[in-house]
Amino acid sequence: MTYKTIIGLEIHSELMTKSKIFCSCTTEFGGEANTHCCPVCLGLPGALPVINKKVVEYGIKAGLAFNSKIANETKMDRKNYFYPDLVKGYQISQYDIPLCDGGYVEIENENEPKKIRLRRIHIEEDTGKSIHSEDGGSLLDYNRSGVPLIEVVTEPDMNSPEEAREFLEKLKATLRYIEVSDCKMEEGSLRCDININVVDEDTGKRTTITELKNLNSFKAAVKAMEYEEKRHINLLKQGKDAVRETRRWDELKNETIVMRSKEDAADYRYFPEPDLVKMKIEDDWIEEIRNKLPELPHDKKERFIKQYDIPEYDAGVLTQTKELANFFEETVKYEVDPKKASNWIMGDVLRWIKDEDKEVEELKLTPKNLAEFISLIDEGKISNNIGKKVIKDMLDTGKPANDIVKEKGLVQISDEGELKNIVEKVIDENEQSIIDYRNGKDRALGFLVGQVMKMSKGKANPQLVNKMILEIISER
Ligand code: ZN
Ligand code: MN
Repeated sequence: MTYKTIIGLEIHSELMTKSKIFCSCTTEFGGEANTHCCPVCLGLPGALPVINKKVVEYGIKAGLAFNSKIANETKMDRKNYFYPDLVKGYQISQYDIPLCDGGYVEIENENEPKKIRLRRIHIEEDTGKSIHSEDGGSLLDYNRSGVPLIEVVTEPDMNSPEEAREFLEKLKATLRYIEVSDCKMEEGSLRCDININVVDEDTGKRTTITELKNLNSFKAAVKAMEYEEKRHINLLKQGKDAVRETRRWDELKNETIVMRSKEDAADYRYFPEPDLVKMKIEDDWIEEIRNKLPELPHDKKERFIKQYDIPEYDAGVLTQTKELANFFEETVKYEVDPKKASNWIMGDVLRWIKDEDKEVEELKLTPKNLAEFISLIDEGKISNNIGKKVIKDMLDTGKPANDIVKEKGLVQISDEGELKNIVEKVIDENEQSIIDYRNGKDRALGFLVGQVMKMSKGKANPQLVNKMILEIISER
């Protein structure tokens, strides 16, 4: 039997405007509870909202980056539901006329590009937060209430948790490139809900869609999808169906748990927001925003391949985030070989970032220092192997390569006089290897070079050692 997984996503992303969507309160994360609030975002009687033009602009920017059609006329609507963190008893959102219609995000699926279609992107306000205290009580913080969001809704075009992860990565990278959202999942500025079900391709039977909510990391999202994929397949195997419900991921139990049965759109009693006028969006303004869009990840990748003559794979990795791409370009400005810069960045630098759980912006290593470091290797002052240790130190401390090399006495020995004793000693102690080499076993030479490297604590210049050993063998 063959099963096909069907996944659609809804992503909420907080916009980086300074003030909230309908008032002038700050959007800054955190702060003492209920200090970033005013009568408007607290929904006090008589307070009237006014739309923040930047929010509309950022929404349009996102729509343009994802190839959506921007509405020339749109409006805000009320979505009514009761929840303690929703202070007004309704959320001002968009219902039937979203700001951006359609569009797509292109992902790489097993080296084949695949278009994930978007249904819509709309703008809306964020809710407050419930804080559940240990004694069982709940407190409410409305600092987040009225922070602007875009909601991106996809078509159910993803067919594996891996594809969904690819999509999320691409979406996040683009939103950060165009500087409309910082997408910090740990601060809740990017949140993702998942709709998932499975079809039995032989019988055409499909399970009812399950909604997964409140996934706070891509890792959790992937695990939850993998869990649901298995659960739905098992249901099909047993001839059963899933229940229409919302589930959440339990990090500790490694399973999804039922939260509640799912509401229908009708339950929200949407109607046009009477306190806000309709919005007219002129084409001139849309074009102005389009012209200001920065280079997008895909275009940057193509440019890197051409301009720096690096492999497509490298260009893809280096353009994953704007920050990493900038780091690479800054490094190359110091006239180092782009492929060498790419190798060190993709290897040691990214590994360090992953191990230390840091961001590129937090690196103590500067592009200038990295360029100097690469030059040290090019000039033969340190070996590639010693380089691995030096760059680790540079990443840990932010010190320039030269200082580390001097402090630790790591300068490569390229002086024949200094190396002569070690080379002769190694040759004297390994007569068999010399016989082997003379009998055509080239590997024996590698072994001898290795012994010299070991005795010199990795500091000997291997090319020179190679040459010296051959000279001595031919003289004997
Ligand atoms: Zn306010
Ligand atoms: Mn929403």
